[in-house]
Amino acid sequence: MADGRNYGQQNLWQLEKSTYKREAHPWPFMRTKLALLILGLSFCLFIGCAVNPITGEEELMLISEDQDIEIGRQYAPEIEKQMGGKITDPVIQNYVNSVGQSIARISHRPNFEYSFVALNHKSINALALPGGYVYVTKGMLEKLDNEAQLAAILAHEVTHIVARDVANEMSNQIGISLLLSAVTSEKTPQSVLTIADLTRQIVGLKYSRKDEQEADLGGLGYMVAAGYNPYGMVETMQMLQNQNQIRPIEFLSSHPSPENRIGYLTQAIQTNYYNLAGSKIAKEEYHKAILSRLSK
Ligand SMILES: [Zn+2]
Repeated sequence: MADGRNYGQQNLWQLEKSTYKREAHPWPFMRTKLALLILGLSFCLFIGCAVNPITGEEELMLISEDQDIEIGRQYAPEIEKQMGGKITDPVIQNYVNSVGQSIARISHRPNFEYSFVALNHKSINALALPGGYVYVTKGMLEKLDNEAQLAAILAHEVTHIVARDVANEMSNQIGISLLLSAVTSEKTPQSVLTIADLTRQIVGLKYSRKDEQEADLGGLGYMVAAGYNPYGMVETMQMLQNQNQIRPIEFLSSHPSPENRIGYLTQAIQTNYYNLAGSKIAKEEYHKAILSRLSK
């Protein structure tokens, strides 16, 4: 594609859509489709829709992009506070951030101000806030083995931000008025409490299976475009699966189980990415910048 941002996942979506074609009686179906389209368009005009750049589909969005950024800015300090604060080692932070930035740069929304932060928390977790905030925990970093696996986690979270799943689910599950009340300029002791309470809900935010699959496949496309070996994502899923057998892990309480994700990821890699020669795994670099320093 001309803008260089069709990383293969588009084919999957087109394939999926074509199964809905009805050949036998096209006209009544088309009329209904046209009516729905007109209804949908007028609905979108009044309520506010945005195109999801990952799927190319119109989606209902109650929150503007500016509000996305503002919500992220407001909740970020509280997430950091509740999840052990930032890891103080600048080498670790710079490494995580530079891997993340290489993905954000080639994403469909490079205009957000992304930050990728390692948190000093023993849980195995990663999460995103609207507007570009991505967090990965010490517990997760300790279980990864190379840079491609880290890129997989960060690319998955970047895709949630690009698709604006985070703000969407926050307004669905928490309530848009409550969510935005934290962003208004008036700060009372009550609203400070609310932010802390809401943050706990954000940490456990559940996405739909459709959003998760989109974040996996979109993230896969992003990590390949950033030069990484996509099997890093499959390995990460396998690690999560193994860890979950030892004891239930936090990341999977808000995400679907890894079994079928390994299936569709492997299939997508075999279908879309033929030439992986020279793609980056960077095990040594990861051990040097992250694992050796975390164990100190
Ligand atoms: Zn996710």
